[in-house]
Amino acid sequence: MPANPQVSEIDRQILTLPKGRNKVLLHSCCAPCSGEVMEAMLASGIDYSIYFYNPNIHPKREYEIRKEENIRFAQAHGIDFIDADYDVDNWFERVKGMEWEPERGIRCTECFDMRFERTALYAAENGFDTITSSLGISRWKNMAQINDCGQRAAARYPELVYWTYNWRKGGGSARMIEISKREEFYQQEYCGCIYSLRDTNHHRRQNGREKIEIGVKFYTHDDLKKEENL
Ligand code: SF4
Repeated sequence: MPANPQVSEIDRQILTLPKGRNKVLLHSCCAPCSGEVMEAMLASGIDYSIYFYNPNIHPKREYEIRKEENIRFAQAHGIDFIDADYDVDNWFERVKGMEWEPERGIRCTECFDMRFERTALYAAENGFDTITSSLGISRWKNMAQINDCGQRAAARYPELVYWTYNWRKGGGSARMIEISKREEFYQQEYCGCIYSLRDTNHHRRQNGREKIEIGVKFYTHDDLKKEENL
């Protein structure tokens, strides 16, 4: 169960896995996105572990911060955390020629494919029958694109399925932010790769805003308290 009753449980549904499934490997992209996914599965008694494979995140400092936040939260809930390789060279090789593609385009498809292929391989080799991901909870992402990539990866192994549950449903999006504030998670300000950092900074410059500073922005308890007192 969640550690803090401030998070509204009123809309939380009891989740059921796809038929005949009972062990999930959750690909996690970061703590803010996976916080709600983790607590939703815990509340439904689903057996799962976290798989952190995100060689798309640059620079390395940003990668380490995102990963450490996720480890901290997994430990607090007693959930297994599998820390996979940071094979960043392979990631750059995979998206070569797509450096100027827009977010949600073909570079992102390759990026999701790469992360899900490794997740599916680990799942198949380690007794998981289901994979899913926290990536789809973000409203910045294209859920259909993520589901396609996840299902393509799972289809490599006959015993594996990708669970396409929409984590935004039933108040999931709101709880994702609420949990992030409660836990004071690091608040990343771009998707992850250097191309998304470049493009986000470009957009900021055009709108008269400062460029992103790595490692400085965190959600706070105070934001949560302010909302409760409104
Ligand atoms: S924008 Fe995000 S999903 Fe797309 S390639 Fe970069 S890190 Fe991957």
